[in-house]
Amino acid sequence: MENVVSLVNVNKNYVLGKTTVSALQNVSLSVARGDFISIAGPSGSGKTTLLNLIGCVDIATSGQVIINGNDTHDLKDRQLTDLRLNTIGFIFQSFNLVSVLSVFQNVEFPLLLQQKLSAEERKSRVMELLRKVGIENHAKHRPNELSGGQRQRVAIARALVTRPAIILADEPTANLDSKTGETIIDLMKEMNQIEKTTFIFSTHDQRVMSHADTIINIADGRILESYKPGKIKSIKNISPKSKSAKKSRPQSSTKLAKKKI
Ligand code: ADP
Ligand code: MG
Repeated sequence: MENVVSLVNVNKNYVLGKTTVSALQNVSLSVARGDFISIAGPSGSGKTTLLNLIGCVDIATSGQVIINGNDTHDLKDRQLTDLRLNTIGFIFQSFNLVSVLSVFQNVEFPLLLQQKLSAEERKSRVMELLRKVGIENHAKHRPNELSGGQRQRVAIARALVTRPAIILADEPTANLDSKTGETIIDLMKEMNQIEKTTFIFSTHDQRVMSHADTIINIADGRILESYKPGKIKSIKNISPKSKSAKKSRPQSSTKLAKKKI
């Protein structure tokens, strides 16, 4: 299958005064078009750094980052901006909606930046997305009139509205209760299937990651492994005791396939 993201031997260092923080070390990964991937790892493991490199909001210290066939090293700032606007949708932990705009206007915003569609086309595109994420009755509301789960639905619609090839979601469920969080991941999965959009989301929540087709485990800036989590139901049934015993990842018996990458 065609790869929509390829990272080859990527390193990312942050220089803080005299010390250098090595946030990513020798990271290589490929994401196939249409995949639904979780980047899983504890706080500080490099999840945000990795998503920022894929999202072209930061650049690698060394190594290759290829997004939708574009080697980002070769692109100028203007071309990186275009790539972000047309190829990538972002979903954030804190939703990042514009508080003075309505739900409709928030979702319309990326289309206004793109300047490709007429007002009528934008309206029908926005309303179609609001229907798909189940929030069409709140089109005129402001974000602060919505619950966290509803706000994240709006953010999902906003990320999808330009029909990007890739959606990046950095801990999209971290500010939601666990039930709402799972509903949001299920909605992302549904959109992944309907729209054929590739989703890459980060999480340190085991229940959330178990909804992914592929889990990439990261620790201390290195990818440890990539595997398919298998049946979700069996993970929900893990007792608290056995869950903590296998804290680093879902039950190994549920794995369908495991490969080093
Ligand atoms: P995660 O998202 O998994 O919590 P991050 O990617 O945010 O991890 O961070 C990985 C490492 O890089 C951490 O040690 C963090 O302190 C460091 N780091 C992240 N961003 C910066 C930055 N802008 N400047 C310096 N160090 C950073
Ligand atoms: Mg982070």
